[in-house]
This record gives sequence, structure tokens and C-alpha cells, in this order.
Amino acid sequence: AVPLVVAKSTALAAKHGLLIKNRNAFEDSRKITTVVFDKTGTLTVGKFEVSKIVSLNKDLKENEIIRLASALEQKSEHPIATGILQKVKDLSIKIPATEKFNAIAGKGVEAIVEGKKILVISPGYLKENKITIPDGFTADDTETVVFVVVDKNMAGYITLSDKIRPESAGAINTLKQENIKSILLTGDNSKVAASVSKTLGMDSFIAEVLPDQKLKEIKALQQKGEFVAMTGDGVNDAPALAQADVGIAVGSGSDIAAATAGIVLVNSNPNDIVSLILFGKATYRKMI
Ligand code: ADP
Ligand code: MG
Repeated sequence: AVPLVVAKSTALAAKHGLLIKNRNAFEDSRKITTVVFDKTGTLTVGKFEVSKIVSLNKDLKENEIIRLASALEQKSEHPIATGILQKVKDLSIKIPATEKFNAIAGKGVEAIVEGKKILVISPGYLKENKITIPDGFTADDTETVVFVVVDKNMAGYITLSDKIRPESAGAINTLKQENIKSILLTGDNSKVAASVSKTLGMDSFIAEVLPDQKLKEIKALQQKGEFVAMTGDGVNDAPALAQADVGIAVGSGSDIAAATAGIVLVNSNPNDIVSLILFGKATYRKMI
């Protein structure tokens, strides 16, 4: 039987946008020493807006660069794709067809468009493949960047900006008062990660992490003796959510993430994690 105090807390939690799927996860929440946050859609609003389109090839105009990119992004569900498709709509550009679309997990997308091989890809992918970041490249520290490569030639890049959620700073600060560390874990570039983590006063950040490396990062923290909660939304986050001591799926994300996690944050609000921990502490204090 579920003790009354737990049942009451679970109902209270629901009011705060927390869906407790696994009572152990709720019970364990009071032991959390580190919360690992994903960035996009949890600490940030998760809506990318195109801020710049830059051509690095005199034969390709800005509109052509985003037109080619949009052909690939119409097949992707990433928030970056949503931002690029919105911009193309605003510019009234017709999106061309794609063949052989492929998503490269945590790095970008590739496909054939009008007979040309197109990549829309992260700065990390360029480094890894020893493709030099071109002269004339500039982006703000708060901007996410994707490069557009056409038939192995650098065509240009698109910068996108997202906004930090108004609730995030308060949530991180409350965790700090409870002596709980907060770490940012993201596939985005280190400049953006450093900027978000600094703005919010987080303890550290881990950037340019590929989906299959997230699990390893959680394990490493656990080996240091941390009791780790992790938030995640993507299909790719499921193994790391399962490894975390408390896995927290954020609402609008994939069903697979929600199935793996013990807790679901219905409104993706970081303050609800603070509520979870405080409820957990209050509930089990009453029971002792
Ligand atoms: P996170 O979930 O932490 O935001 P992802 O693993 O989803 O990170 O993505 C990491 C990086 O891979 C993005 O910042 C971007 O550079 C690149 N990327 C992923 N998906 C796409 C896409 N559809 N189009 C362009 N770039 C993408
Ligand atoms: Mg993600």
C-alpha cells in the first residue's frame, strides 16, 4: 500500500507539473547531490530563431544557403530544424525535395538535393573531420551555429538563438542553497554552453556531447560519489536517463524518454525539479 503521506505528496506534485511514474524515483529525489540539465527546452525556451545567414562562397547567395538547408531540415524534428523552416517560410522560399536523407546523431543532417550532396552540420563535426572553420566566421557566444557544406565545399553558415527561460536562474539558485550542484550537459557548442552555464551560475558544463556519450558522463559523476538526477527529452537521452539515479523526462519530448524516466516534468519547467526535491525531503521527513 502507498502510505497516505506519499499519496498526498504525489497529488501535490501533479499540481506542480510533476508526473511521478516510479515511487522509488520520488523517494530517491531527496538524496540528489547533482542535477544534470539538458539545455534546449529545459533551461532554455527551446525555440531557435535564425539570427544570421552568412555566405562564404560568392556563387551562393544567403537565400540559396538556407533554401538548401531547409530541404534537409524538413525531414528533421530538431528545434534547429523548426527555426530554419520558420525562416524559409518568412522569406517565402520554396523548399526543394531531398533524397537519401540521414540524421547524424548529435552532429547534424545530410542528404542529396538537386543532385548535390548537402550537409548541415555542427562546428564539432568540422573539427572532427579536419575541415577548417573558414576565415570570416563570427558568431556571438550565445548563438548556435550550423555550417552548410555543398559537395564537400564550405558554402556558409546559419546562426540561431534561443532564449534562457525566465525561471531557470531562480531554480539553479535554489538548488545551490540546498547544496545541490547543477551541471549543463549539451550537444551544442562549448561557447553557447559556457555562456548559458555562466549566466545561470551553474557549477559546470559539458558541451559537444554526442548522444551515446551522455551515459558515460552520468556514470563518471556517479563514480565520484554524486547521486545524480538527469533531465532529458530525446530518444537519444533514454540510456543516460536510465543510468541516472533519478531520471527526469521533460514533457514535450519523446515518449521513449518518458518511458525510461521515473519522473516526467509536464511543463519542462526547471522550478518543478526544485519542487520535486523539496517535496521528497518533506514527505520522507514526515514518515520517519
Ligand atoms: P542538444 O540536444 O544538447 O541540443 P543535439 O545532440 O540534439 O544537442 O545536437 C547537437 C548539435 O548537432 C546541434 O547543436 C547542431 O550543431 C547539430 N544538429 C543536430 N541536429 C541538427 C539538425 N537537424 N540540423 C542541423 N544541425 C543539427
Ligand atoms: Mg536533445
